[in-house]
Amino acid sequence: MLNIKEVITKIAGIQTYSENLRVFRLKLPEGSGFSFVPGQFVMVSLPGLADANGRKIAKAYSIASSPSQTGIMELCIVGYPTGALSPKLFQKNIGDEVAVTGPYGVFQLKQPVHPGTVFMAGGTGLAPLMGMLRSLYGTGYNEKLWLFYSVGEPRLFLFKEELLGYEKNSNLRFVVSTSNHNTDWLWEKGRVTDTFPRLLQQLQQDGVPNEERQFYICGPPLMVTDTVKMLEQLGFRKENIHKEQW
Ligand SMILES: Cc1cc2nc3c(=O)[nH]c(=O)nc-3n(C[C@H](O)[C@H](O)[C@H](O)COP(=O)(O)OP(=O)(O)OC[C@H]3O[C@@H](n4cnc5c(N)ncnc54)[C@H](O)[C@@H]3O)c2cc1C
Repeated sequence: MLNIKEVITKIAGIQTYSENLRVFRLKLPEGSGFSFVPGQFVMVSLPGLADANGRKIAKAYSIASSPSQTGIMELCIVGYPTGALSPKLFQKNIGDEVAVTGPYGVFQLKQPVHPGTVFMAGGTGLAPLMGMLRSLYGTGYNEKLWLFYSVGEPRLFLFKEELLGYEKNSNLRFVVSTSNHNTDWLWEKGRVTDTFPRLLQQLQQDGVPNEERQFYICGPPLMVTDTVKMLEQLGFRKENIHKEQW
C-alpha cells in the first residue's frame, strides 16, 4: 500500500514544446520517501495559491517518469490561458517550489506484462504510458510492445529521442501520427483510430490471439471512447482494455 504524501518539490528543468505544452522536471526533497506505481498521478498545487474562498487550487497530472528515476518526477502539462493553475505554473522558473500530493489512481500495468501489449496515447495521454514504458525498459523488459501515439501537431511530439531509442534498442514498435502535418513529417498520418487498423495485419503477425491482446489507452475522452469502440468492433476483449481519460 503506497502512502499518500504532500511534498514540496523544486523545478529542476522545463522543456517547452509550444506556448501551451511543457514538461516539468521536479526534484523531490532528499529522503522524502515519495513512492508511486507507473501510471499513477499526483495533485499539483503552488504554495500560497488559493481560490477566492481561500481553498488550495490543485490539479491532477500523470507521472511520466519511472519510480526508478530516484529523486525526480516528470509531468507533461498543457497550459490553458484561463486555467486556475496552469498559467501560474507556466510563470515559474528553475528553482521555484511546486507542491505535489499523491500518488493516486489505479491506472497501472497488470502483471505479468504480456508480449504484444499495445499502448495507445493521444497528446499528453502519453504521460502515464511513458512512466510504464520507462519502468519496463529500466528493468530490462525486451518482449515486443507497441505504442500508437497521435499528436495534435508535429512540434507536440513528446520524448521523441527517447522513444526512437526504445524502438531501436528495446523492441518497441512505435507508431506516431498527426492529422496536422507538413511536408517534413516522416511518420504516419491521422489518429490512432486510423493508424491501428492500417497496421493491424502487421501487429497480428506476432501470433498473439485477439482475445489475449492487452491494451493501455490514455488521452482526451473522445479519443479514448473512439479507440475503445474501434477495438471492440475489431474483436478485442473489453476486459483487456485498460484506460484513463481526462
Ligand atoms: C487522473 C488525471 C490525470 C491527468 N493528467 C494530466 C496530464 O498528465 N497532463 C495534462 O495536461 N493534464 C492532465 N489532466 C488534466 C488536468 O488535470 C486538467 O486539464 C486541469 O483542469 C487543468 O487545470 P488548469 O488550471 O490548467 O485549468 P482549469 O482551471 O481546470 O480550466 C480552465 C479552462 O480550461 C478548460 N480546460 C481544462 N481542462 C481541459 C481539457 N482537458 N480539455 C479542454 N479544455 C480544458 C476549461 O474548460 C476551462 O475553460 C489529468 C486529469 C486527470 C483527472
